[in-house]
Amino acid sequence: MKPDTIAAIATPPGRGGIGIIRISGPKALGLVPRFFGTTPVGPSPDLTLVSHTMVHGYIFDIKTGYVIDEVLLVTMEAPRSYTAEDVVEIQSHAGHLAMATILDQVVSAGARIAEPGEFTKRAFLNGRIDLTQAEAVADIINARTAGALKIAAAQGTGELKDAIHGAREILIELLALLEAAIDFPDETQDLVPSDQGIVRVKQVLTACEKFIQTYEEAHFLRDGIKLAICGPPNVGKSSLMNRLLQKERSIVTELPGTTRDLIEETLNINGITFLVSDTAGMHQTDDLVERIGIERAKKHIAASDLILFMKGADKEISESELQSIVPKDKKVILVINKIDLIEGKTAGSAGVEKSLPPTLAQLPQVRISALKNTGIDHLRKTITRLSMENIGEASSVVPNLRHRTALKRAIKSLKTAEAGFLNGQNEETLALDIRRAADLLGEITGNTAGIDILDTIFSNFCIGK
Ligand code: GDP
Ligand code: ZN
Repeated sequence: MKPDTIAAIATPPGRGGIGIIRISGPKALGLVPRFFGTTPVGPSPDLTLVSHTMVHGYIFDIKTGYVIDEVLLVTMEAPRSYTAEDVVEIQSHAGHLAMATILDQVVSAGARIAEPGEFTKRAFLNGRIDLTQAEAVADIINARTAGALKIAAAQGTGELKDAIHGAREILIELLALLEAAIDFPDETQDLVPSDQGIVRVKQVLTACEKFIQTYEEAHFLRDGIKLAICGPPNVGKSSLMNRLLQKERSIVTELPGTTRDLIEETLNINGITFLVSDTAGMHQTDDLVERIGIERAKKHIAASDLILFMKGADKEISESELQSIVPKDKKVILVINKIDLIEGKTAGSAGVEKSLPPTLAQLPQVRISALKNTGIDHLRKTITRLSMENIGEASSVVPNLRHRTALKRAIKSLKTAEAGFLNGQNEETLALDIRRAADLLGEITGNTAGIDILDTIFSNFCIGK
């Protein structure tokens, strides 16, 4: 089926200097003379458009003939365009009504409004980019930190595509040899000696495993580090969260147990994204709603990368209070809050700082006053330092969660194949495992991705992309 011609406003909503309306498809160039002219008199039916060259002119209302806006228009003939189809881009003034009215003319002339991500989907379906590059487009749009942008840009240039493609090629060659051995068992004696098969499978296995490792080490640059704020009720968790975010998102009250649900916010510290959550105060309670909140918070803490465990400077805390909430091998910073309450107090007086049990005393600690805004910078620095520990120079290619899932499954098939070669497994079975691994790698680049995968990816795009 021949694709139809689609159109959309490509720039974000809101008023601005310039907005872009993009048209793509076989009719894109032919539509232009119906609503565009180089003089304010009216549309130019005999317009000659030179590809990749900007023309100045006017957009006209098709029905009334009135000028809608003065614009610049550029045509990009297939395949040298974003979608690899004929593309027209109109640069108009970015008022919502002006742009919507221009889009109306484009639709009246014969285009259809594009679905979210449809331009990028066409670029993929037309083979100009692979699926990892399409995902990179969305990642670039959504990047909030320098690290995330760097990864997205590298993926956009095809670094991941090339690496996965190379690995898949090795498997496809191996598969061809195996299939020849199946079809012509007599002529191809020892065509795939087991050691050769193993070498190739190992090569791909190593590549896949390296990607998984990179994911583990560096995915936070893309996805963010999960930072959980926890501790007994009323120690100042919500107050700290607000300080870190420099706004009033969490509800701060004097009643213990008010933060019943999880509140998660994005925070950028020194170019790293953090997903900060304020978890429900941990204490024994009979209130059912609150208990559910606490259970959820516990799960959440277990899944976090870094924990801020808070205590009040004026309050005792026991080891068991930490151990009941925080799993053993988690990275924890002990945050001692409310130091304003004990300042200037000397030993023996009522407000003196309470000493810490040994396990807690060993933790990295930062003393703050969320109320008076002291120690927050030091805390930010400590958070960055601990997050960057054990992380080497992040490679420029970092798989996302979808890639990781496919890689893990591919590794499983490759391991089965490796064992099969060692044990003299028959070619048919070996070929099945190799095929499965090759298909899983193809899911990453899109060579073998099903319609459901494509739909999920492209429906997450914004309109006009
Ligand atoms: P949460 O239950 O742990 O989330 O604690 P909140 O952030 O809701 O704070 C509980 C109470 O402690 C509120 O009345 C806060 O104003 C107060 N508070 C929080 N941080 C400080 C601090 O650094 N110093 C003092 N004196 N009070 C604080
Ligand atoms: Zn709270």
